Amino acid sequence: MFFARKNLFSATDAFPLTDAVLEFDDSSSAASTAVRPGRRALDGLGPRGDWHERKKWWAVGGLISLYALALLGFYVLDMVAGEALAVLAAMVVVGFVAFWLVLRADVQQKIRLRHLQLAIVSTAIGGMLVVFYLAPVTQILFAPFMFVAVAYGIFTVPRRTLLALTAVVLVAYAAVIGLHHSHQHNAALLRLELLHLLALAVSVPAFIVLMGRVQHLYRSLYRASRKIKNIQEDAQRDTLLGCFNRRYILAALEEQKQLADESGIPLCLAVLDIDHFKRINDELGHLGGDEVLRTFARIAQQGVRGGDLFGRYGGEEFLLIFPATSLLPALNTCERIRAQVETHAWSGLLKGRVTVSIGVTQYVLGESVLEFFSRADTAMYMAKEGGRNQVVVEEPIAKGDSLLSEHSGHAFL
Ligand code: GH3
Ligand code: MG
Ligand code: MG
Repeated sequence: MFFARKNLFSATDAFPLTDAVLEFDDSSSAASTAVRPGRRALDGLGPRGDWHERKKWWAVGGLISLYALALLGFYVLDMVAGEALAVLAAMVVVGFVAFWLVLRADVQQKIRLRHLQLAIVSTAIGGMLVVFYLAPVTQILFAPFMFVAVAYGIFTVPRRTLLALTAVVLVAYAAVIGLHHSHQHNAALLRLELLHLLALAVSVPAFIVLMGRVQHLYRSLYRASRKIKNIQEDAQRDTLLGCFNRRYILAALEEQKQLADESGIPLCLAVLDIDHFKRINDELGHLGGDEVLRTFARIAQQGVRGGDLFGRYGGEEFLLIFPATSLLPALNTCERIRAQVETHAWSGLLKGRVTVSIGVTQYVLGESVLEFFSRADTAMYMAKEGGRNQVVVEEPIAKGDSLLSEHSGHAFL
């Protein structure tokens, strides 16, 4: 749960679906767009070379290599001249450099993934048309690789745009046929090329329409998985305070105990209880009390380190788990939170009256979660008895060894 490994080969990596769906979702949730990072930033397509970006360019390079390999086969069989291969190589180099320069110039990341992919698909098909013009026999390659190019863009480029692109490609294809005919006056070749054109004209639009259904299915699946993720996140959160809820923090405690048992690394736990909260409620009403709870939870969460886990145990009681932390740093954090709560600029009636009592202890290897928790809870009650607004350490007795040099049940104020 806490060490979830990043899935490097998710569906969104295989297909650039994320962007398509995000763009789709953006239109329906305007409020969330304000805080969202740029789409290329999300999809790792910024000019900075990160793993996702490189992987996507490798995919483009791989598809081009397949085409080049097929063309090489034609060359080996003496079906095309070396000139076609040389032109293809030159176009690939120029194309990559052009895209690299454009992306570098796009500092503000205004180019969206769908624009970029449309440009890649168009450039690829344009390049294949040039090769087709130079070597008519490559029309055999053109059709399957046209499908590959369209499939590459299907999840990000809108369907209508792809259909429009297909229309343009068909017109360009017809123009190449015209050029071939004007150069060679070969009736058999003309018939063959026209048949190819006809085959493309009927099959590519049908493919795009059918793939649109797959695209729709993917979008639905993606949205459903995002909803599930949101529900899972909500299930971990306290609805009033936004921090982890009781169920989550107790599960986290159990998990951290097991990790500590396996690794032997120290683990600490603090129980925090707001002092005289009943009085605050009585004076401010429950809504005022809720506001105090919210502010308290915010102060506490700001006061902990990244790996620490803070959650509401119930009412005005909270748990703070310190993974991989020994008693002294945990105590320091508790003391910092106590002081910050005390000195916070509470308004009106609350000024100087909101304080917290904290009990903290360290896990003893092999003990139960209940024993661990009880010790921290006892320390918290000792803080109450000691006059509140203080941190008490309940020293764990580990096989006669003292983890702290002083006696147990010490108050730190
Ligand atoms: P002590 O210093 O001994 O902890 O005293 P206390 O008044 O804080 O403790 P007590 O357990 O007597 O009272 C806790 C109060 O917290 C009682 C309950 O009504 C209130 N409370 C529990 N949950 C909430 C909540 O979500 N919102 C508000 N406003 N009050 C709550
Ligand atoms: Mg209390
Ligand atoms: Mg209480």
